[in-house]
Amino acid sequence: MFSDMKALPETKESLEQLKRMTERIPGMIFQFYRSAAGRMWFPYLAGSATLIRGVERRLLADNAHHAFERIDAEDFPRLMTAIERSAKTHNPLATQFRLRQPDGEVHWIAVRAQPESLSGGTLWHGLMVDISEQVAYQAHLRELSDTDELTGLANRRKLMARLDEEISLSNRHGTPLSLMLIDLDHFKRINDTWGHLYGDQVLTDLATLCTNTLREEDLVARLGGEEFAVLLPLTPLSRCQPLAERLRKYIAEHDFGITPGRVTVSIGVAEHRVGESREVLIERADRGLYAAKHAGRNRVAGSE
Ligand code: GH3
Ligand code: MG
Ligand code: MG
Repeated sequence: MFSDMKALPETKESLEQLKRMTERIPGMIFQFYRSAAGRMWFPYLAGSATLIRGVERRLLADNAHHAFERIDAEDFPRLMTAIERSAKTHNPLATQFRLRQPDGEVHWIAVRAQPESLSGGTLWHGLMVDISEQVAYQAHLRELSDTDELTGLANRRKLMARLDEEISLSNRHGTPLSLMLIDLDHFKRINDTWGHLYGDQVLTDLATLCTNTLREEDLVARLGGEEFAVLLPLTPLSRCQPLAERLRKYIAEHDFGITPGRVTVSIGVAEHRVGESREVLIERADRGLYAAKHAGRNRVAGSE
């Protein structure tokens, strides 16, 4: 039995065996050539056809364009840059890209290939594997780490990451960006009177109210405890303030299943100033929140 595993000499049989094997591997092995003039093709291509379903291999042996045209427009320039760099540095080509299947389904493909410089261009020897499942799993993990377990809203981590992105956009383009900090009023009393489980239900309902009241592009997050935040891209304070007021009123009038008027929130609002750090923006919204609490709660306030 073991002897069956020994490499055979290159006979017709061994070539047949190689062909049968390469056609069954869950991926593709290939040679990819790029001439100095920039023409590209696959001198050799073998493996599971699902990767390049709908493309005739003999066409690829003539012109790689038939596969390239199915690569996602966002990933194509990155792939070309990686090819360019690998040719120049002689380092292995290692990247990934999205490939559209004829049925419209999109697969993530990882490619690893070793370049070899030839007189007329570069020849890569490599393999491609479908990594769609791993990419989906990574996205799932990322979502879990970005989500507040109780309410399903974005968590503090996610809010901070989005804040950084939006602040950088706002700095670059001078576009308005506002932030609301929302804190439940006397929430301790609600817990003490109605129990912690009921308190949790109020937090969940509040999350739904916020999400339903605001626009899709606004990010509603739970910062922790009974504190929430809303990030409103492309929104100046003059628009954020009435929105916060509407949300406050909506919550105060909502029937949470206890005496109306028991669940209220205070909201601090601030608009990002060009060049201002994340911390300072949060601090200003927080000062607004403090002012709203101080002025008697169930209200909206900004701060300088
Ligand atoms: P204020 O109007 O000044 O904000 O008063 P408050 O009682 O809301 O503020 P305080 O910070 O004194 O209390 C917050 C309470 O929120 C205390 C804590 O038991 C409750 N809390 C924090 N996280 C949770 C949670 O996940 N579930 C429940 N049910 N309660 C929570
Ligand atoms: Mg609080
Ligand atoms: Mg509170």
